[in-house]
Amino acid sequence: MKIIETIEEMQSFANQTITEGKHIGIVPTMGYLHDGHMSLVNRARSDNEIVVVSIFVNLAQFSPNEDLSTYPHDLEADKTKCEDSNVDVIFCPNEKEMYPSVPLTWVNVDIITKYLCGINRPNHFKGVTTIVAKLFNIVKPSKSYFGQKDYQQNRVIIKMVEDLNFDVKIITCPIIREKDGLAMSSRNKYLDEKQRKEAVVLNKSLERAKWLIARGETNASKIEFEIKQMINKISGEIDYIEIRNAKNLYKIELIQDDVLIALAVTFDNIRLIDNIIINNKKL
Ligand code: AMP
Repeated sequence: MKIIETIEEMQSFANQTITEGKHIGIVPTMGYLHDGHMSLVNRARSDNEIVVVSIFVNLAQFSPNEDLSTYPHDLEADKTKCEDSNVDVIFCPNEKEMYPSVPLTWVNVDIITKYLCGINRPNHFKGVTTIVAKLFNIVKPSKSYFGQKDYQQNRVIIKMVEDLNFDVKIITCPIIREKDGLAMSSRNKYLDEKQRKEAVVLNKSLERAKWLIARGETNASKIEFEIKQMINKISGEIDYIEIRNAKNLYKIELIQDDVLIALAVTFDNIRLIDNIIINNKKL
């Protein structure tokens, strides 16, 4: 497994790979890899001759009040996990390599970045789309793998790829959960014992919503209200609970077609997100 830290080396490796007729699959991450990340890696491994995992904690997608300085990292453990999963390259540039000077060029997807996570994190998606666009130009993948856990991010990246004609196929992989249903996240380790137990309610409330819909409930506000009542019983603070059209993310009142039920809850400074797609037709 190669560890590449410079853009120049990554680009020349990518060019060589493409010349040899091989396809590159990239899994963009911020490191501190868990089984959720590794599920994307495994999918990439089965689809591509060459798998690149990028590890870069992207300053541009954090707001000044967010947990960048405490964001967990353990590059040695990440390397072991990647090696065990037959990753070909870890691309792990530092901040100076990725942003040698203050960038004046940003990739910004409009409208669908303004609600859900975009309300409390106004510059977040601009940071994400810019770094993903840079990674596509550096790693030159045929396919890129993202988790459904960050569902809005997925839709934003799919729109960016469509609007800017990136020649990259976006593959969305299912949410990997702990045994008790909590969606795996690098941030879970910061939950104390009580918060960790309470956090299970996030998934439980989504499952309850699914059950209500299966029983014939079609009123989105009623379902949102039920979820809210469940989450109000724990110490986490609700950032949002919303039901939207799963494809275009527009707000809906009537449950029909494919719907996204998404939520964000903050325990102290630890922000957790989760979601579920119901009536999952082809998006
Ligand atoms: P991050 O390192 O948090 O930026 O995540 C990198 C990628 O892993 C993103 O595409 C996430 O959606 C994905 N991911 C994170 N957690 C999970 C999970 N529990 N299940 C599936 N994918 C995940």
